[in-house]
Amino acid sequence: MLTIERIEAFAIRSDIASGPGHTPARRAPWLAGAEIAAPLARHARFKRDRTVWRPKWPAVGCLVTASDGSWGFGVSRYGSPVIAIVNEHFGPLLIGEPALATERLWDMTTRFASPYGAGGLSAYATSAIDLALWDLKGKVLKRPVYELIGGPSRSHVECYATGNDTDWHMELGFRATKLACPHGPADGLEGLDANEALFAKARELVGPQVEIMLDCWMSMDVEYVVRLAQRLARYEPRWIEDSLNPDDLDGFEALRRRLPGVGLAGGEHWYVPQTFLHAASRRLLDVLQPDIGWAGGLTGLLRIAAIADAAGIAVIPHAGMNTPYGQHFGLAVPGSHMGEFFLGSGVGVPLDETKLFPGQGVPVDGKVTVSDAPGFGLGVDLDGIARMKA
Ligand SMILES: [Mg+2]
Repeated sequence: MLTIERIEAFAIRSDIASGPGHTPARRAPWLAGAEIAAPLARHARFKRDRTVWRPKWPAVGCLVTASDGSWGFGVSRYGSPVIAIVNEHFGPLLIGEPALATERLWDMTTRFASPYGAGGLSAYATSAIDLALWDLKGKVLKRPVYELIGGPSRSHVECYATGNDTDWHMELGFRATKLACPHGPADGLEGLDANEALFAKARELVGPQVEIMLDCWMSMDVEYVVRLAQRLARYEPRWIEDSLNPDDLDGFEALRRRLPGVGLAGGEHWYVPQTFLHAASRRLLDVLQPDIGWAGGLTGLLRIAAIADAAGIAVIPHAGMNTPYGQHFGLAVPGSHMGEFFLGSGVGVPLDETKLFPGQGVPVDGKVTVSDAPGFGLGVDLDGIARMKA
């Protein structure tokens, strides 16, 4: 039996994490200098720029090697704490375990974490290991991961683009776009006006046949979301996303009660299937958005997708089309009818220059074609992985 011989997590070099990008931008990306509504906005010194209070932890790579030398590679976030959980806790306990037993190993890592919580940073660690194990399994079985999980369900994945360079999204051929909301409760009526103006301008630019969504990044309270939704109704937003503190589950219930006709999405800051079960069974949201690198990897997302599908709710993973991991999920899972592509690179820079892995697809006319190479088709060898190390 193939067993796990080695698990190693490490920090990924930041210049590699954002892709090779040699074409100069003809305009700086919207992210440069933009104010984005955020949960810290109530504290003046942290209001203007969320990079001031967010940790500088780098992306995390995780290499799992099996007893015959075969290997798989996963990626997650949040640097040293997640690296410590993998290298000092989960990893050593999994040595000698069956390398293809993704269900068993996911069950173990989430239970290893139970004394300090299986969500949050431990879920990032579980995700890194789980994605590496699925990559390994695909390479051992010589099949793309989307086949191993019962796909394909579609020939390609239709994407929407996220970010406030709406004109660039349209030029690239996307037919759906999501804005980052700049203001929250701390900006009062003036902020509400500015939010409405941003949405109105985007609607005018794209016309009636393009979907527009709004991301609120945990920044609001129920009262504010209700007022904002009333303002935006005439511009027909497809959904309002991630608006409340992710732990405020009663708040999401109140929001659903007060906005019965408004599309609501969220879940990128939920980490365990139980939270998604809570939301799905009460139909708090219309779209669930777990992140495959954060919420327990592919195994975690398949569990969430089963819960969502039973409730008739779509799963559109957070930034799923930015990684080969999310792309395989999106191609395979019947209830995942659209993918999100986060666009934070400069206007005019070809998307192909912004990817971490040479083997992954990028949206062309808003559609991603998924590699059918074994595993996640990352297109890197062990030397390439060694070069990613910080
Ligand atoms: Mg979001």
